[in-house]
Amino acid sequence: MSRLTEISYIRNVLGKHGFTFSKALGQNFLVNPNVCPKMAELCGASETVGAIEIGPGAGVLTNELAQVAHKVVAIELDKRLLPVLEETLAGHDNVKIINGDVMKLDLRQLIAEEFGGGNAVICANLPYYITSPVIMRILEEKLPVDSLTVMVQKEAADRICAKPGTRESGAISAAVHYYSEPEMLFKVSRGSFMPAPNVDSAVIKLNILQQPPVAVSDEKAFFRVVRASFLQRRKTLSNSLSSGLSMPKAAIAGILSAAGIKPNARAEEMTMEQFAAITEEYVGKLSSGL
Ligand code: SAM
Repeated sequence: MSRLTEISYIRNVLGKHGFTFSKALGQNFLVNPNVCPKMAELCGASETVGAIEIGPGAGVLTNELAQVAHKVVAIELDKRLLPVLEETLAGHDNVKIINGDVMKLDLRQLIAEEFGGGNAVICANLPYYITSPVIMRILEEKLPVDSLTVMVQKEAADRICAKPGTRESGAISAAVHYYSEPEMLFKVSRGSFMPAPNVDSAVIKLNILQQPPVAVSDEKAFFRVVRASFLQRRKTLSNSLSSGLSMPKAAIAGILSAAGIKPNARAEEMTMEQFAAITEEYVGKLSSGL
C-alpha cells in the first residue's frame, strides 16, 4: 500500500519542503487509502491508455495511476509542490509533471505532444473552486479523451449526473449530457481528506459520446437556450427565457407553443429533446428576423 495516505509520512514530506495548504487553491489531499486505487482502476487507464491528472498535490492519485497507465501526465499549478512530487514519485519513470494552470494550458496540444494519436483519459481529484469550468472546458473543446473520472463535491456530482427533465437537473446537467454519459461511481466522506473540507465528495465518470444525444442545427444557440432556461430557477421557463434571451414574452410564447411545450413549464422539467426543440424554434425565429 502507498505510504502517501499515511498522515505522519505525508506531514513529514510536506513539512520538509516547507509546504502549507492553500485554501484558495482547493488543496485538500486524500488520505483515505481506499479511494485512489479505486479511481485508478475505474478510470480506464491501461497499458495502452494514458492518464492525464489535474492537480496531483502530493502525488497520491498519481502514484496509483502510474501503476495502471503506460504514461501519466499531471498538471500542477502550485510550484511549491514540484519538489514534493519529485520525492514522492521518485520510483516511477512513466510520470511527467507539468507546472501550469489547467485553465490556461493548450490541452489539445499537450495531449497531441504527450500521447500522440493514442488514447487517454482524465482522472483527477479536482480543486473545487474550478470544478465546473474545468469540466466544461474539456467537454466543449471536444478534447480527444475517452472519459473524465473526477472527484467533485457531492452536491455538484448530484447536479452533474441528474438527468435533464428531473427535479435535481440544472444547466450543467444538460450541458454534460450533451457531450457525455455521466455515471456516479462512489461517495467519499469529508474525513477522507487532509485538511477535511466542510462537505462530502463523490467520484463521477463522464463517458464521452461520439455523437450528441440530440441533433441541433446551432450548438451555441442550444447552450444559450439551456443557460437562459435555468437563469431564474424559481420562475417559469417562459419568464426565464424571455429575460435570458432578451426576447419579448409573446415571442417566447410562440417558440414554446411551436415546440409543443406548455406555457407554465419549468426548466427542470425539460428533457434534452425538448431543449433541442426549443433551440430549433429559437434559431428559426432569429433567422426570420422576428
Ligand atoms: N490529487 C491530490 C489528492 O487527491 O490528494 C490533490 C487534490 S487537491 C483537491 C487539488 C490540487 O489541484 C492541488 O494540488 C492544487 O494545488 C491543484 N490546483 C489548483 N488549481 C489548479 C489549476 N488551476 N491548475 C492545476 N492545478 C491546480
